[in-house]
Amino acid sequence: MPGCGAHGEYRAPRSRTSLREYWWFCLEHVRAYNAAWDFYKGMSPAQIEAEMRADTHWQRPTWPLGHLGARLDEAIRRDPLHVLNAGFRRAERERRAAAETPADLREPLATLGLGWPLTLADLKSRYKELAKLHHPDANNGDRAAEERLKTINLAYATLRGRLAQAAPLAATG
Ligand SMILES: [Zn+2]
Repeated sequence: MPGCGAHGEYRAPRSRTSLREYWWFCLEHVRAYNAAWDFYKGMSPAQIEAEMRADTHWQRPTWPLGHLGARLDEAIRRDPLHVLNAGFRRAERERRAAAETPADLREPLATLGLGWPLTLADLKSRYKELAKLHHPDANNGDRAAEERLKTINLAYATLRGRLAQAAPLAATG
């Protein structure tokens, strides 16, 4: 990895099309490389392109943007570190955010599809959205919807309680 002085003792495949050719990284960078690889794996070419464009450090690619999909593997083979750089940073940010999330809040956050840190206003607006969507009245009295709503209510109460502790004045209403 450019700028890294650590020994490259861990290998990772160069690309999907050359799985038996390797880059060698230190432990920290092989983890970042693998995280970035996984990060892009589930995305469509358009999503990957949007992701790379959204990164402020992304430099103009040397291949036509509209044809990224067909050329992605070739691009990774030619210059994987450059292509994956945006993914490194994004995966690292997500890893750090996950590590900073209080352990007891991970499940309620996942239930509501929210990240951490969180504001009370964001929590409330997300809750309103989900409560409406999963309300039994909106689902012909469906039992499963009722159960989902219970889980959502519980997650909301837990998160609201925690945010109220942190900022008592913001918790009214
Ligand atoms: Zn390194």
